[in-house]
Amino acid sequence: MIAAGIKPRDYAVSATRDYVPAGVDLIEERVKEFDPDGNKIVTESGKPVPYDFLIVATGLKLDYDSIPGMDVNQIGKNGMGSVYHSPAGAEATWQAMSQFTQTGGVGLFLRPATEMKCAGAPLKYAFITDDRLRRAGILLCRSGGERGAPSAKALDGKGYKQVYVVVDGFEGDTVKDGEKKNWRLVNGWKNSGLPWSYAPNKAKMYLPQ
Ligand SMILES: Cc1cc2nc3c(=O)[nH]c(=O)nc-3n(C[C@H](O)[C@H](O)[C@H](O)COP(=O)(O)OP(=O)(O)OC[C@H]3O[C@@H](n4cnc5c(N)ncnc54)[C@H](O)[C@@H]3O)c2cc1C
Repeated sequence: MIAAGIKPRDYAVSATRDYVPAGVDLIEERVKEFDPDGNKIVTESGKPVPYDFLIVATGLKLDYDSIPGMDVNQIGKNGMGSVYHSPAGAEATWQAMSQFTQTGGVGLFLRPATEMKCAGAPLKYAFITDDRLRRAGILLCRSGGERGAPSAKALDGKGYKQVYVVVDGFEGDTVKDGEKKNWRLVNGWKNSGLPWSYAPNKAKMYLPQ
């Protein structure tokens, strides 16, 4: 959610103590030593804590070093991102992704083949990004009259935030002289610098139900 720009960085930060029920003592220290024979653990400050039953749930340790070519310092730079590293890393990933939605290109989305902290996170991220990319660039070419602006407004109401309406004529104003006289080539959408095509690619069309 953070790496997709939907939630702010602090959305993922909370305190364990807020989830501990009444009647449970939370010792906010790391376990330094397990002593199964003596039925006790020892905390980092050297405090022994005896137990009847011990449940160890220390979670998974991220191991970016085992990914060839991965450098966590590159997260958010040169088009690299990661949803797992940290809230700051997720925020930096969103900045990279936000840029990618403007420039386009080839996007590669990877999922660890090993144990992982959330199998769904990389998939969700790929789907959200796909949605963002589909919404990123919508070009409306005015086909005469006043239809462009209301159409853009309707799309904006549906959540499409980058709708371009080219208002300088249909294909373009007519050329006055020369070989291409009367062709609609001046300042139209052909000359707008925005992506356009006579043959929309159906595979790339997004048709909300
Ligand atoms: C980006 C992302 C998205 C996710 N999305 C979802 C989701 O949508 N739905 C879902 O169900 N799950 C999701 N998950 C997975 C979920 O967060 C984890 O499965 C869950 O947090 C694992 O809980 P855990 O208690 O086993 O480990 P952790 O949450 O990692 O907790 C382990 C705890 O042990 C502590 N610890 C470690 N060593 C010591 C020590 N020596 N002494 C004392 N304490 C120690 C750690 O500090 C930590 O607080 C997501 C995870 C990520 C990273």
